[in-house]
Amino acid sequence: MSRAVVLRASGLRKVFGGRVVACADIDFELAAGEVVGIVGESGSGKSTLLRCLAGLAAPDAGTVEIAIDGGERVDLWQLDEVARAQALRSALGLVHQNPRDGLKLGISAGGNVAEPLMVSGIRHYGRLREVALDWLERVEVPRRRIDDLPSTFSGGMQQRLQIARSLAPGPRILLLDEPTGGLDVSVQARLLDLLRSLVRELGVAALIVTHDLGVARLLADRLLVMLRGRVIEAGLADQVLDDPQAPYTQKLVASML
Ligand code: ADP
Ligand code: MG
Repeated sequence: MSRAVVLRASGLRKVFGGRVVACADIDFELAAGEVVGIVGESGSGKSTLLRCLAGLAAPDAGTVEIAIDGGERVDLWQLDEVARAQALRSALGLVHQNPRDGLKLGISAGGNVAEPLMVSGIRHYGRLREVALDWLERVEVPRRRIDDLPSTFSGGMQQRLQIARSLAPGPRILLLDEPTGGLDVSVQARLLDLLRSLVRELGVAALIVTHDLGVARLLADRLLVMLRGRVIEAGLADQVLDDPQAPYTQKLVASML
């Protein structure tokens, strides 16, 4: 039985300043519960692709379909701004490389988790606090830190808080842009373990951008390899990493050995 498609990009294209083709002719599908990695060198268009999928950058051509409540798919960039924001809020979470881009630095850790829940309709203070505490625990942030500002947290803890904030509203799709990018190796390992178990436990479909092939192998079922804005190779993660077909992928894999 094939799983439902929760995200589909077709013919996606994004050009900057009329000449930098950041993304070109991108086609792929993400199935429910699946983890897909996007690898490729810096400047290959990974972040731009994610921003188009997350509603942050309007593509110049192509479509982005996402499944909303009930499984129906909507064409993100055909919706008006209000409808698009609403569809994204319930369906999709985004984790930035830099936690500061995803957190509200002026509000407490608990507030960062509770805020998106308030927007989605939970108003009862006691209930919000309970849910926030539960999420802090799930991402291994001590409960006693609930009223502290994220700026007092370590980088790894800030990143775990950002993950809690993006998952708390219960999206079925999670996009992550180099989530372990700025972290020390030991901190990275802990974050990867946590991400892997959360994604599996919740069954969310995840698209994870990384330039680290080790991270890709650990987390991803399938891989997309990007080069100069295009997907030049796609397949099962182990296949792509153990038997790369495109010369570029062969070089990329060899350089990581
Ligand atoms: P990656 O995430 O793989 O490093 P990006 O998506 O950030 O790649 O960038 C792809 C290309 O698009 C690069 O050439 C980059 O300089 C360019 N680019 C990205 N964002 C912008 C922007 N806002 N304005 C102009 N050029 C951009
Ligand atoms: Mg990037």
